[in-house]
Amino acid sequence: MTTSTRVMRPSAYELFSPITMQRVEQHYEGEYRSLKSGGFFESATRSLITRPAIGSRATMVGNLSYRTIMQSMPRQTTTAAAGFVDPRVSFSRLVLQRFKEDPLVPKPFHRIPISLEAYHAPPPTFQECPKEVWDGSTEERLCTNTRPTSSDTVANQCFQSMRRVDTFFQTAYSTVAVEEPIHGNLMRVDIHDPEAFNNAFWQPSDIRVHCGDVDSSVFGQPLAGNPEVIVHEFGHAVTYYSSNLDYMRQSGAINESLSDVFAITEKQHQAGVRAGAADASWNIGEHLIAGAAAGDSLRSMSHPGTGFRGHSIIGDDDQVGLMSEYHGDQEPVDRAHDYGGVHKYSGIGNHAFYLAAIRDGGPSWERMGKIWHLALKMSQHDASFFDFARETIKASKDLGFGEPIAHIVAKAWSDVGVLSCLSGGVALEVPQQESEGWCW
Ligand SMILES: [Zn+2]
Repeated sequence: MTTSTRVMRPSAYELFSPITMQRVEQHYEGEYRSLKSGGFFESATRSLITRPAIGSRATMVGNLSYRTIMQSMPRQTTTAAAGFVDPRVSFSRLVLQRFKEDPLVPKPFHRIPISLEAYHAPPPTFQECPKEVWDGSTEERLCTNTRPTSSDTVANQCFQSMRRVDTFFQTAYSTVAVEEPIHGNLMRVDIHDPEAFNNAFWQPSDIRVHCGDVDSSVFGQPLAGNPEVIVHEFGHAVTYYSSNLDYMRQSGAINESLSDVFAITEKQHQAGVRAGAADASWNIGEHLIAGAAAGDSLRSMSHPGTGFRGHSIIGDDDQVGLMSEYHGDQEPVDRAHDYGGVHKYSGIGNHAFYLAAIRDGGPSWERMGKIWHLALKMSQHDASFFDFARETIKASKDLGFGEPIAHIVAKAWSDVGVLSCLSGGVALEVPQQESEGWCW
């Protein structure tokens, strides 16, 4: 269990650390005028300003935040015609405003623990989920199942990624990404979304993924065009509709890590590579970071902290891969501190998965992916790394993979410092408490 009992339910589950994004915002704070003349900020801000007219027609609770934004803006800006943007208004501040806790976020789901019988029930036959891509600025529907292509290239790429996600979750994990009991299982992504700007996120309140157009001096391509981003975000939906791990500190880091696990297993599944193969990729968001001195990925599961290095604006990837480097319990759990480092410490879970998967050597989605997915289903919402590690070892056995696989899983968690190994040769048992040694 984490040390705090406060349950963190943010309004958005993000792709990338807000701490890193703050570096972008700070970088641009003094250059707002020049950027504005470049057009991007102007059009993005304009769409943010004109959005309330759309919001007033919509019924989605998420639009409340637009009203909040409007109320916080200088009057001359809110009444200005499109084309005029008050330079005193910091775009980044408006975006941050959007992330404040939304009181209308629906009550969280806690569908655990599930019975193993239910988990082992025969998988339903594949049935394509309804999927839609919308333009988040104009509220125009761009792609649907019956009209999968549009004149918008990013929308088309996004829709293809959504098809992959849908097929993958159903066939590999026998689940659908969005399992919304009231509104059905519609998968929706809003692209060109000014809310998301330099990020992407799953937002439970409006049951959709938001993808921004991103700043080209940081990102090499639109986020919605990258399949790993789409899998990562819908992975947050899978987590949300299962144990809904609290988005703070250790449970939040596991929440983030699971989205990367889903993304990497889908990527390797698509490429048809085994985890042990030399050409298996362990990079999340490959080719997304532009202009770094080294690395061009959001994150590396094989070498946490090396996704990107020496970027003139966002600096270095700050992920860690060892429990000895975990200090999340001392960090505040607000967005300015990445909810206690959920994107930083997810590297610990990511690296454990990587180690387990390469030692298993087979297709990562066939054994390790299923183990991690069942562990998610069996976890409590406030699971610590230790709790989750235990669940993966139990899942190895419950899925019938046997002692050798359970050993591989246990050793991976031991190597990242979540479990401790005191001596060798003792029969494998699932430790009950964190203080108990872990031996084999
Ligand atoms: Zn995320």
